[in-house]
Amino acid sequence: MAVTQSEKATTCKMLVGGQWVDSKATEFGDVTNPSTGEVIARVPMCGADDVDAAVQAAHAAALEWKEVPVVERARLMFKFKNKLEENCEEIARTVTREHGKTLPEARASVLRGIEVVEFACGIPSLIMGESIANIARNVDCETIRHPLGVCAGIAPFNFPAMVPLWMYPVAITCGNTFLLKPSEKVPLSSLLIAELLIEAGLPRGVLNIVHGGKECVDALLTHPLIKAVSFVGSTNIARYVYEKGTAGGKRVQAAGGAKNHIIIMPDADMTQTVQALQASAFGCAGERCMAGSLALPVGEAGDMLVPALAESAAKMKVGRTDTGDGPDMGPVISADHLKRVKGLIDKGVNEGAELVVDGRKVSVPDAPEGFFVGPTIFDQAKPDMTIVREEIFGPVLSVVRVNNLEEAIRIGQDCPYGNGAVIFTSSGRTAREFKHRFNAGMIGVNVGVPASMAWFPFTGWNHSFFGDLHIQGKEAIQFYTQQKMTMTRWFATSDEKFHDPVWKSRRT
Ligand code: NAD
Repeated sequence: MAVTQSEKATTCKMLVGGQWVDSKATEFGDVTNPSTGEVIARVPMCGADDVDAAVQAAHAAALEWKEVPVVERARLMFKFKNKLEENCEEIARTVTREHGKTLPEARASVLRGIEVVEFACGIPSLIMGESIANIARNVDCETIRHPLGVCAGIAPFNFPAMVPLWMYPVAITCGNTFLLKPSEKVPLSSLLIAELLIEAGLPRGVLNIVHGGKECVDALLTHPLIKAVSFVGSTNIARYVYEKGTAGGKRVQAAGGAKNHIIIMPDADMTQTVQALQASAFGCAGERCMAGSLALPVGEAGDMLVPALAESAAKMKVGRTDTGDGPDMGPVISADHLKRVKGLIDKGVNEGAELVVDGRKVSVPDAPEGFFVGPTIFDQAKPDMTIVREEIFGPVLSVVRVNNLEEAIRIGQDCPYGNGAVIFTSSGRTAREFKHRFNAGMIGVNVGVPASMAWFPFTGWNHSFFGDLHIQGKEAIQFYTQQKMTMTRWFATSDEKFHDPVWKSRRT
């Protein structure tokens, strides 16, 4: 019997207590190069036993790691940052190979991840507590931030290097140990990056990696030694992870899916707007939680925007990304996802939206097995259509024409998500009104993708986030630490009371 591609492919190891080890799993998933459909690795679907082994290793390491001075933990991050920079190109190529985004997109995403490590290098200044002398007479009060213990991170497929880097550099520098479960579709970038962290001097057990899907996630969510879980993925799973994790007493931050509105006022700079909107809707093949997937041109802006955008989008070169810097857009992640995206385009047509650019027609002759769909634009979409309500997570932009800003704000109000929203305008007053009132947590003014950078929290609202403290920025430090308040009073000895004039004056 012929050996399948999957059987020939290398099986990913777990990282447990500083060792690369085999999982006990009997089921495996395929990691695929989306440009070609070729299986490039096998990933074990870890169960409770594997998770427990990794948690025990993290727990054993936690006692010592939390006592390492925070400045030393930050120094590890400095070394890690250097390693990431030295190996940025190799990481980006791995991201492209397993995810399919173009190399420039992959490089940019790795740089965004490195910025989180830069942020972590500054944690000694940011983790400081607060204090007040004499909060009551002769009583001093202070708070000190302590790590939680073992934390876990569960990542989505769309940013194989960046999203895991949102999580563990901050958690670890705060003094926690960590279990990472990368997406089973794209585990290779995380494994490569973990090698670099080990080379930088990571003590055993401080970062551990397990693989898999629901069974593995459930084992993480119910393990009594895990204190906190960071999750990034689709809304239904985010809600599930939040509910199950918090029911078990864990701290959970769970970022979900999105549908991001781009409002275009008639006074916008149309050339800049078309460029930014194209990048926002079709960058990373639309597989971004901050992708602008709904354009809401106001009044005559629609007639200026749609033809220009359609012309420009139709010229985008779609192709395989694993052989160079070539195309403007790569494939989507899998054959199943391709089918879903195309199905939603069919639905848009059936529900009556006007298909202006049809990505279903795209063909890539040198990669016939790749998962390609081209940029797609619907005009005259209506708020109740599926393509407007659902996150498509592909290169599909729906244009809903509105009469005024008020109407756009109302459409935003009805949207269950709330990650990002953008306005293009040259009016400061209109921009202010939009910024103040629009129903989303990350706002752009003449910026296509207002994704928070490492120093700011990733402030999704509504069903785009479940929890209290967001990922990234100072909120991440709050998430990964617990405060201890100490109230102190020292009594003077009788001798001190007699001789010390300061003490005497303070008592009177
Ligand atoms: P996903 O929800 O399918 O998977 C995310 C993680 O959950 C993976 O690690 C996966 O193994 C695990 N998982 C999958 N099914 C599960 C189940 N039934 N029970 C428990 N765990 C399960 O998401 P995805 O397709 O990998 O990523 C795309 C989604 O992520 C999009 O919805 C996108 O908007 C979202 N996303 C959100 C943000 C954000 O910051 N809000 C950032 C990136 C991606």
